[in-house]
Amino acid sequence: MRTRSLIAAVAVVILTVTYFSSSKANENVVNLYSYRQPFLINPLLAAFTDETGIDVNVVYVKKGMLERLRAEGENSPADMVLTADIGRLNDMLEADILQPIVSPEINRNIPAQYRHPDGMWFGLTIRGRIIFASRERTDVGEVLSYADLAKPSLEGRVCTRSGKHIYNISLIASIIAHDGEDKAQVWLSGVRDNLARKPQGNDRAQAKAIFEGVCDYAIANTYYMGKMETNDDKPEQKLWAESVRIIFPDQSGNGTHVNVSGAAVTKSAGNRENAVKLIAFLSGENAQKIYAEQNFEYPVKADIPLHPVVAAWGPFTPDAIDLAEVAKFRATASRLIDITAYDLGPQSGS
Ligand code: FE
Repeated sequence: MRTRSLIAAVAVVILTVTYFSSSKANENVVNLYSYRQPFLINPLLAAFTDETGIDVNVVYVKKGMLERLRAEGENSPADMVLTADIGRLNDMLEADILQPIVSPEINRNIPAQYRHPDGMWFGLTIRGRIIFASRERTDVGEVLSYADLAKPSLEGRVCTRSGKHIYNISLIASIIAHDGEDKAQVWLSGVRDNLARKPQGNDRAQAKAIFEGVCDYAIANTYYMGKMETNDDKPEQKLWAESVRIIFPDQSGNGTHVNVSGAAVTKSAGNRENAVKLIAFLSGENAQKIYAEQNFEYPVKADIPLHPVVAAWGPFTPDAIDLAEVAKFRATASRLIDITAYDLGPQSGS
């Protein structure tokens, strides 16, 4: 049985590759490279094909999409990419492998702060970078902002994943954009000194660490809370979620840092118009509802109902800064992680 499914899987890959390479500039297809996972994207693409009659060939990429697109150059079969985090979209922009798209429909669907000003990329879903706080060991009001994570009273009580992770780079870039590099460095050193352990694990591992009493505060993306709260396959994650409450930082300041998953059209696109149609579809009402239902993210389009689990967290004010502006400070953010030796963890004796 296992052999048979392996053969089937190999056949699918070969078919995909063959069809993909012969389908460039075919009228009724669009070719997609996706970092976003099949469980989320397949239902959206099926709905798109139903509505438009346009077939979508999709390659689900685990890593190295940028390198692949660079290597393929103008021969790339990909018309369009789907990815999470402004960081990856910005890397593609800087690698000069994207082309601008002007579409009034798309621009109506997506607020300006969540798309590139020249149409080089488009946000499709929003996620907040929030603070998890131990229900048992923290007082409400002790931490209200990212700045508070550097307070001396939090010494030995904070956990995060690596500062170099794309999500943290974007958060730090947003702090540089607001407060400048010097202040951001002071803040980052303060958070480093409050770490309970060397940065490690993913976002969910930080909730686990709070559950286990390793730390009292952590930083994570909103949708992981939803995934843990509802995880029937790994019920221990429900316990992690129950051990934390959510803080939306900076509600009386800049607002909570948000990032996007998004889409962009490649320079090499042979099916450009279909790619534009797909982005219009993905930012439209039906697809935005599917996104909201499937993955505990916030729709970019206004007036789309939230998943009940997400709605239960309550409303919050997102940082209104343009993500294109934040992206400009990503390299500086990465440098600050090096300068402060953030990933080495708390510095004894310094
Ligand atoms: Fe994620």
